[in-house]
Amino acid sequence: MQVSKEGIERIKSANELHSVVAERGIELKKKGRVLVGRCPFHEERTPSFTITPSRGLFHCFGCGAGGDVIGFVRKHDKVSFGGALEVLSRRAGLDLEKLMESRPKVLPRTPLHALTPSSHSGNGNGKTIPVPAPPVPPASAAIAPAALLSRVVEHYHRTFCEREDAQG
Ligand code: ZN
Repeated sequence: MQVSKEGIERIKSANELHSVVAERGIELKKKGRVLVGRCPFHEERTPSFTITPSRGLFHCFGCGAGGDVIGFVRKHDKVSFGGALEVLSRRAGLDLEKLMESRPKVLPRTPLHALTPSSHSGNGNGKTIPVPAPPVPPASAAIAPAALLSRVVEHYHRTFCEREDAQG
């Protein structure tokens, strides 16, 4: 029995717990936000079987039984989980076969290429737009300043020496 979580939720939301309970001959009385009745799972005279319709859960303060609508049907009808789903889907007019087929739906992820503008597909110009290349200095230009400097230093050194010689 492979029923998706969504399928189970659909079955649960389509079957109000208190209606399912009432259909099984359990008399329920409204008591504030909850409904109380005589527990079908143990002998009792004072009702301690409580249903919280807003939550779709039942709990018995006498024997501790509790659960949701599926759990109630399982316990009451003495059926398996799958059997309870069958009972409840039939009751709600749902096609259990279909619910079994429906796998948890994972939203298809939007492919990335659908989100980004097609900048590099279809538009051939995108790649061939001539980008002005940064002016590449001639190879010598990089060396020139250093070479020039050394030449200048050499020049002044020579001049200085010459002068020194001249002075000396
Ligand atoms: Zn009980």
